[in-house]
Amino acid sequence: MSSTLAFKKTYNSMPKVTSFTPGRVNLIGEHIDYNGGIVLPVALEKGIFISLTPRSDNSIRIFSDQFDEVIELSINNIATSKWSDYALGSIVYANKAGFLNGGADIAITSTLPIGAGLSSSSALIVGILKLAASLSKKTVDNISIAILAKRVENEFIGMPCGIMDQMAISCTDPGKAIALDTKNLSFEVISLPKSYHIAIIHSGEYRLNTDGNYKKRKEECDIIKEIIGHNDICNMSDNEFILLKNTSTDLYQRALHCVSEHQRALKAIKAIKDDNIPKLGLLMTESHASMRDDFKMSLTNIDNLVNDAIHLGAVGARLTGGGFGGCIVACVLKKNLKTWRQKLLSLHPKAFSVI
Ligand code: ADP
Ligand code: MG
Repeated sequence: MSSTLAFKKTYNSMPKVTSFTPGRVNLIGEHIDYNGGIVLPVALEKGIFISLTPRSDNSIRIFSDQFDEVIELSINNIATSKWSDYALGSIVYANKAGFLNGGADIAITSTLPIGAGLSSSSALIVGILKLAASLSKKTVDNISIAILAKRVENEFIGMPCGIMDQMAISCTDPGKAIALDTKNLSFEVISLPKSYHIAIIHSGEYRLNTDGNYKKRKEECDIIKEIIGHNDICNMSDNEFILLKNTSTDLYQRALHCVSEHQRALKAIKAIKDDNIPKLGLLMTESHASMRDDFKMSLTNIDNLVNDAIHLGAVGARLTGGGFGGCIVACVLKKNLKTWRQKLLSLHPKAFSVI
């Protein structure tokens, strides 16, 4: 159902504004957007449709087809671990930024699976903030929207994510990759190879960012930053590595992932520009090994899915997103895609194709 239709059915009126905001998949560069790294996410054809009408009072009403209910709140509410928190936070921060002056009625319909590592959260927040900004007389650039969206997740939700998702979603169009330097937010939009498909397969393993695993990895990185005395884990020196190795094997492994993942992301960007997709594939597969062995963010079922994806002909495959469940991303020759997908899904009955 379109969000306009959902809005009409829910509130018995037409919405003032409607938009589509893409989800994103990360090709390479995992958990390094808060550690000084380069990342390479791709905006998706799948995403979130949002219809919105601002209100002159402080009430907020939110309908989502994925949750099939209307939640009624006010702009004075705080997060309460409900699905409506992300939409609520977006309206609260749209008020802080002066885009809105009061509440809103919102209807959301989505083609993105939630909690799959495809950043439905950032798509929703960026989507609402952009709609709200379009209603105000302010000129707001895409980077400012991404920074504000990150504040909603960090401050309102309490999710300590980096800036990758918001930037990918706010600054590029579906089907394009963005090579993003998370240290200074400079980026380059990159076209993807035409003869390959970026396949996304959900493992059937569900995780919640709120379950604490993502936070735990972030906290470990915070300790590393304290030990080495700066925030740029991805570019730490050999001496800092030795210091870390002598302090804790776990922390050393987390840092090893960050440094090696940053190097792989740089090589992956070059591989795409050189049209060397087998090289990109190898780097993706190496990235998975690093997430599995050093950052320790994978699950056995996901490792098996990645291995089978490669044995069945993908040039490369890896877990994507925050980890501990969700999707894998694989690079597959378009002409082999149908058979590859069928065989992979028959080996993994819990898994399903997203794109
Ligand atoms: P993801 O990997 O998809 O970003 P998160 O756990 O970070 O997963 O964010 C999921 C949260 O984002 C949901 O619990 C909900 O609060 C919000 N959200 C995402 N999609 C929708 C939607 N279609 N309708 C309402 N809220 C949504
Ligand atoms: Mg998210």
